[in-house]
Amino acid sequence: MKPEISSKLPKLGTTIFTVMSQLATETGAINLSQGFPSFDPPDALIDRINWHLHNGANQYAPMPGTPSLRMAIAEKTERLQRRKLDVDTEVTVCTGATEGLFSAITAIVRTGDEVIILDPAYDSYEPAIDLAGGITRRVPLKIDENGSDFHPDWQRLSDTLSDKTRLIILNFPHNPTGAILTAEDLDQLAELVRDRNCYLLSDEVYEHIVFDGEPHRSLASHDELWQRSMVICSFGKTFHATGWKLGYCAAPAHLTAEFRKVHQFTTFSVSTPMQHGIADFLASDPGFYESLPAFYQQKRDRFCELLAPSRFKFQPARSTFFQILDYSDISDEIDESLAKRWTREIGVASIPLTVFCETPFTGTRLRFCFAKDDGTLEKAAGILCEL
Ligand code: PMP
Ligand code: GLN
Repeated sequence: MKPEISSKLPKLGTTIFTVMSQLATETGAINLSQGFPSFDPPDALIDRINWHLHNGANQYAPMPGTPSLRMAIAEKTERLQRRKLDVDTEVTVCTGATEGLFSAITAIVRTGDEVIILDPAYDSYEPAIDLAGGITRRVPLKIDENGSDFHPDWQRLSDTLSDKTRLIILNFPHNPTGAILTAEDLDQLAELVRDRNCYLLSDEVYEHIVFDGEPHRSLASHDELWQRSMVICSFGKTFHATGWKLGYCAAPAHLTAEFRKVHQFTTFSVSTPMQHGIADFLASDPGFYESLPAFYQQKRDRFCELLAPSRFKFQPARSTFFQILDYSDISDEIDESLAKRWTREIGVASIPLTVFCETPFTGTRLRFCFAKDDGTLEKAAGILCEL
């Protein structure tokens, strides 16, 4: 007898990032869909990892991460967010943000718990909530009058909170819209959760890519929010190395203890030479991540300048390496079908936004990744300007 598979995720297909990247490869399109840079990590970092590969750092790392990397993460967090992390009890290195998010959700969410996520929501959250037996409640971001800027809708979030709400997942700097949080947003969130038995999971993978002189306001920077927060970051974005799959979770000791119970059996520990190499590099060159806003802002500005003569409507992204373009003056086709058609027909691949939403409130908008060399951006923009 062949056992029947009764899927635990019956409605789930393949992630849009894989679908669009595969289509771009098949058709030879310029791939501005899945977010990854077209340039390499810094040589000095690769050299340090290489050194550790040749000098014995090839066996299991400690389950929570190497002391050297946890120390470097703590120093960075204190420098940038004024939060002094306890290296032993508040930092855990994990296999990219994806594992961190999964382990955090699995550790916190119980059967029947409600979890609030903000649409458009990164696509790894809901499957993890489903597998934990939780119930996802989606609250759309608010679009401003010009139709260009996205903000958290605290009123709707407040209306959705209930005694069953166990967790709220936030993602600022926000993929795909580039929305960021103000100091008032953090205070407002604190007020909303103050008397509730509810935790916060903050996906901050774009922490170092915020533009126009704005700071990144981590949940770790806010004394009250920090007590109930797990903050997830990724070295993939910070070092132009999305293929390395290295990140970390910063959380107060009582939450870290629960996080580690899951982390130790999701993956146990993370690549040892990579951790040593990143620790050395972070300690010797904090200037690298400090240079990221200017580096990516220049790319954003170049891409926007190239698109100025096009028929797309847009506001320059406020963070991340994604630019949202509104195509309503060009087509009224549904975004997912248009993204696929344009990949085949014009040779530029992008990511539709409605796949990250319960209702298609983002309408006629597509996301384009500008973490590319100037030649690629020029070629893609040239094609987009002909539409
Ligand atoms: N969260 C968001 C918002 C992302 O954009 C990504 C991927 N880029 C991740 C999580 C996953 O990060 P990682 O590749 O480190 O697993
Ligand atoms: N986070 C990346 C993006 O938004 C994709 C990551 C992935 O492919 N899983 O494009």
